[in-house]
Amino acid sequence: MPISGTTADAIAVGGGLAGSAFALELARNGASAMIFERMRGPHHKVCGEFLSDRAQALLHYLGINVPALGGSPVETLCLASGAARASAQLPFAAVGISRLLLDEALLQAAQRAGAKIHRATSVERLEACGGRVRVQTAGASFECRAAALASGKHNIRCLPRPDAPMVGFKMHLRPAEATRAALMDVVHLIAFTGGYLGLCMIEEGTLSMAWIVSSDVLQSVGTSWTAQSAYFARQSPFFEELTNGATPDWEKPLAVSGLPYGFMRSETIAETIYPVGDQLAVIPSFSGDGTALALASGIAAAQAVLKGEGASSFQFRMLATCKPQFRRALIIDRVIADARLRRAGIVGARLFPSMVTMLVSATRLSGLDSLITSADART
Ligand SMILES: Cc1cc2nc3c(=O)[nH]c(=O)nc-3n(C[C@H](O)[C@H](O)[C@H](O)COP(=O)(O)OP(=O)(O)OC[C@H]3O[C@@H](n4cnc5c(N)ncnc54)[C@H](O)[C@@H]3O)c2cc1C
Repeated sequence: MPISGTTADAIAVGGGLAGSAFALELARNGASAMIFERMRGPHHKVCGEFLSDRAQALLHYLGINVPALGGSPVETLCLASGAARASAQLPFAAVGISRLLLDEALLQAAQRAGAKIHRATSVERLEACGGRVRVQTAGASFECRAAALASGKHNIRCLPRPDAPMVGFKMHLRPAEATRAALMDVVHLIAFTGGYLGLCMIEEGTLSMAWIVSSDVLQSVGTSWTAQSAYFARQSPFFEELTNGATPDWEKPLAVSGLPYGFMRSETIAETIYPVGDQLAVIPSFSGDGTALALASGIAAAQAVLKGEGASSFQFRMLATCKPQFRRALIIDRVIADARLRRAGIVGARLFPSMVTMLVSATRLSGLDSLITSADART
């Protein structure tokens, strides 16, 4: 395959949050950067669309005006399992905003900073060769000094992640007028046998619903929206109440399979290939901090490239910072999966709501700021 004449200092494989943050940070610091994104234009992604305070601060660092995107504020967390429920104040001001808007805003900011965006371009292969990186698409091959593996939930051939039994979904809904008040300012986390779901208002009165479910439960329930929403309503009177009269925006929910919760890529692919976002590590989705990790790792990888730090040292630093929060998040994930434990958890949360606020803080990826060297200078 011929080597393309166009090349750059660095290439991001994937134009999601991690890839765009990588290219944007490089471009605004004088390096040439390219992004290869397999989709033709703005697109929806499986995500609860809940933005933590850390994610908002990182976006601000990247020059994105989050309030101007018009999201919906979130102040309270409501937990439910069966007929039991409990509410607690979030320890920070969060916001609900669609990934359709957010990813596109970041991609365009990267372009304005000078990064070249190649849309509808799928990367087929990524490999180190002679101290450089070769990036192969369907029609051409490119060489660069460094690359970010930022393909998120999709694996690139030869660079697999472990297989896992959980499947993720997303649906957008128009809630009925009568349920709007109960949905505003709140992120609802509802557990059911085989998984859990999140409900969060985003821009323009849209209700974003994301859920994960084990593949064996999915097999018996069915994959259609009608079958799954009927199952959730049987499992949770609270879900039925909140979504009563809501109309889905799409015929089918978006889906992504094989979510490897707890995955941490500690092995180095090559010193010039930096895994970022979900290709670096996958925190359970209830924590609502996957986007913060994607942004922080994209920025930190760009800074590593700029200062000549290799991928092995970058990965070691990133994973060491995230490990304590990952451990706590995985324990909570196990509690959610066990009906008895989660019932006890909700009783505890009703008695001591401040305990929930504390647990939310405990699963925050709090060390991310220290990984970004020039954050203070720009905020
Ligand atoms: C059910 C669920 C709910 C979640 N809810 C939340 C939440 O509420 N809040 C939160 O903070 N996090 C949440 N997360 C986590 C969050 O969605 C991810 O951590 C985040 O999207 C990771 O960003 P990324 O840039 O690594 O990957 P992605 O956002 O997946 O972006 C990857 C990009 O790469 C492109 N791509 C893929 N393969 C190729 C290829 N071969 N060539 C070129 N381009 C390619 C894709 O099209 C995509 O645009 C949730 C996750 C799940 C599964």
